[in-house]
Amino acid sequence: MSARTRARGSEESSRPVRNKEGDNGCRRKSGPTLSGARVTETLLYTHCLVCHTPFPPNEELEYFSTSKRVAYDAERGRLWAICRSCKRWSLAPIEERWEALEELEKLVKDRAKLLSQTDNVALLRAGELEVVRVGRANLTEEAWWRYGRELTHRAARHQKLTFIGTAAAGAAIAGGWASGGLGWLGAWFLWENAPEQLTHAARWLRFGGSAWRGRRRCARCGQIFRSVAYRDRKQLILSPGTAEGEALSVTQRCSVCGDVEEGGLHLRGKEGEVVSRRLLAFHHHSGASEKRVRSATRLIEEAGSPEDLTRVVIKEGRRLGDLQRTGAIALEIAANDTLEQRLLELELAEIEAHWKEEEELASIIDGELTPLPLMENFRRKIIGIG
Ligand SMILES: [Zn+2]
Ligand SMILES: [Zn+2]
Repeated sequence: MSARTRARGSEESSRPVRNKEGDNGCRRKSGPTLSGARVTETLLYTHCLVCHTPFPPNEELEYFSTSKRVAYDAERGRLWAICRSCKRWSLAPIEERWEALEELEKLVKDRAKLLSQTDNVALLRAGELEVVRVGRANLTEEAWWRYGRELTHRAARHQKLTFIGTAAAGAAIAGGWASGGLGWLGAWFLWENAPEQLTHAARWLRFGGSAWRGRRRCARCGQIFRSVAYRDRKQLILSPGTAEGEALSVTQRCSVCGDVEEGGLHLRGKEGEVVSRRLLAFHHHSGASEKRVRSATRLIEEAGSPEDLTRVVIKEGRRLGDLQRTGAIALEIAANDTLEQRLLELELAEIEAHWKEEEELASIIDGELTPLPLMENFRRKIIGIG
């Protein structure tokens, strides 16, 4: 542990320069030495030790830029890079761990979000980095925070489609022009509409035409509701669930008697949750910029919780078309909170199983003096008895 006390000196502010990969699958990196003198060479793994998939480097850690998902155990002094492809953990060489462990602890304390945790492991996120911390973290869980990524991904996908649409329109115009079959007006129409048509088609393929189908009668006039069309979404009323912990409800005004209180279509409970999530996802099909997601998540933080946010944004009930963009994005993030929580629980169970295996292996690799009963257990496991 003496390495923990290494002097960082002037290295503190400078980020490591990434050089080209070495032939052996490792990246060479300059870093501080024991004496604090500059430039020595340490090796960082760039590929998974199990399946050899390359690790995408992260920009968050100065001392361990390997992989966008890392795991660590500050108490036992372990540090791993987690492979996205085979999910196995690659143990970092012992001499590379100490600064990185210190850095990780600081990162977790200062600016990581706790997504979810069990008694043994915590899953956190800081910027683009996902961190598995062994041991419980003293933070509040914020599962909803992860959903923001889905929105920025959607924006990237939307942009790509718009670009493809524009390129296709460009090609069609050039072709039509060359053959003399396309006039100014046609060219203009194509240029203006092709990108939008393509994103509309993508949206339709993903969602279809209606957010809900069924058979429900208006309690006031008897009119029958068979579906809720996405194109009518702006007129739909979103309201907070009536019971504690219940998700959003969706209400449609009756087209015959015009009633929304006694009459009309009311989707509550599980149905309301599913339909409101669909409506919001459709409404925000083009996603949101990172800046917008940040403002939206700030709104949730200020409100205190996803449930409180819902009350702040829609009060007793508001039409989807009347919501401000940031508030509506925050609402979509909050609406997915419970789902995110469930997915995270599954993910955590898997992480915990991996952790148990990898920790067992690490204690052997690190050559620790394992207490006798444990060693005996392990020996039995290896030779297949007990
Ligand atoms: Zn792998
Ligand atoms: Zn009616």
